[in-house]
Amino acid sequence: HIPVITIDGPTASGKGTVAHKVAERLGFHVLDSGALYRLTALAALRRGTELSDEHALAKIAERLPAKFVGGEIFLGTENVGHALRAEEVGNAASKIAALPAVRQALYGLQLAFREAPGLVADGRDMGTVIFPGAKLKIFLTASVAARAERRYKQLIGKGFPANMEGLLADLHSRDERDMNRAVAPLKPAEGAHILDTSDMTADQAVEAVLEWYRH
Ligand code: C5P
Repeated sequence: HIPVITIDGPTASGKGTVAHKVAERLGFHVLDSGALYRLTALAALRRGTELSDEHALAKIAERLPAKFVGGEIFLGTENVGHALRAEEVGNAASKIAALPAVRQALYGLQLAFREAPGLVADGRDMGTVIFPGAKLKIFLTASVAARAERRYKQLIGKGFPANMEGLLADLHSRDERDMNRAVAPLKPAEGAHILDTSDMTADQAVEAVLEWYRH
């Protein structure tokens, strides 16, 4: 039986960082499920597919030539790790993530990430839908202000333009959409530990998760 730790939470709550660090400590694999929605969105934006064309988007998701290699993400042979982080792609990802056929198309792909010795799965519905039997479930949150600041630093650090007001508005509309959609809405899974990281460093959050995992 291969153990899974799920880490769900809103945009820019620090899930990705915490998930990678926990996985590193335990020698586990990582599933960055948001990247799958972002990859689908990026492929759709490039093809000019309407973000409301559920059937066409599900086809793209189903045939996604995605590869995760040592922290890098490839679409076909192209390294798209950088392109995926753009706000435009994140917003498009959140729109297409509301479509049931797209979620369905990515379901099996996500299950396949569960490999020995274990998996840390990061997303919005890891504990509620994809791995409901996970050994440990975490719901990671932080105040809107803390999240906007983290996202701001992340974008500037990667050379993307960013302004605080626009980011706050984006975070707000993305949270709303993720929490209020009909399929797989963002919410704490049954039995999830809630971890508010507003006043915590990433390393403190990692220790809290490891502590729960050991007990
Ligand atoms: O986590 P990240 O910001 O990369 O995710 C991009 C978008 O993909 C989210 O805003 C959310 O709408 C969607 N998503 C999802 N379910 C997941 C992971 C991401 O709906 N498990």
